[in-house]
Amino acid sequence: MIQLTGKTAVVTGASRGIGLEVARVLASRGAAVAIIATKENTDLAKSLADEQGVKVLAYACDVSCADSVKKTFDQIIEDFGAIDILVNNAGITRDGLLMRMKDEDFDDVIRVNLRSVFICTKAVARHMMGRRQGRIINMSSINGIRTQPGQANYAASKAGVIGLTKTNSLELAPRGITVNAIAPGFIQTDMTAKLNEDTIQKFKEAIPLKELGKPADIANLVAFLASEEARYITGQVIGVDGGLNA
Ligand code: NAP
Repeated sequence: MIQLTGKTAVVTGASRGIGLEVARVLASRGAAVAIIATKENTDLAKSLADEQGVKVLAYACDVSCADSVKKTFDQIIEDFGAIDILVNNAGITRDGLLMRMKDEDFDDVIRVNLRSVFICTKAVARHMMGRRQGRIINMSSINGIRTQPGQANYAASKAGVIGLTKTNSLELAPRGITVNAIAPGFIQTDMTAKLNEDTIQKFKEAIPLKELGKPADIANLVAFLASEEARYITGQVIGVDGGLNA
């Protein structure tokens, strides 16, 4: 049974979808949780804390902005005493075919999905190195491994997350910190609700397990990677995709 009592986790993009479920599952395993989103979701933090019986606090922070991240992470360390687990989950899509994709749509996706992972990791790395322990879990995507038309920006950002994960795992391993990435397939959240019914149906048919994933499918793996049981796993990209990338 995975136990995270006594640990503090920071989850970015935790207002909804995968991030919210990650926060819930980590809290259910006993971790105190700092939830980050673009807005301060105080009521959500309070209801999670009441539901799971652990400390949960909400922070508003643009994870792609270094100043805002530094301030927020310093505040979290002051509020909780330490950070043991960082889940870099916040992400956006701005899909479009190459010839129609605006430069700012490319830049926004790289900034929020990739730059944020660099910035947030840097913000906790020294702290974790000093404590000679830490777990960093980055949300990549199946689209960072094999992609589809219309996602040049997204695929590049998620492939970048894999590169960053591997490099950081090598640099941080000597200090007892593991860094891994998860590559979700098609998971039911607001992000995928934007897709038309035809596309969703095509995905369903292509998935060997013949159903879309749920946020809990990802959150359960995050809890495992955050735990002592996963101490010898680092630098890995683990797919959770119903067999889509088999
Ligand atoms: P979602 O439901 O759209 O939620 C996105 C989250 O990211 C929200 O909490 C949002 O906060 C936050 N966010 C966006 N921009 C931010 C910023 N600049 N600073 C701080 N927080 C920000 O997405 P999801 O489907 O749960 O996806 C979560 C992660 O999994 C993403 O990295 C995504 O790329 C990845 N992923 C998802 C799927 C899928 O099928 N759903 C598949 C593969 C990978 P606000 O509520 O404040 O906007």
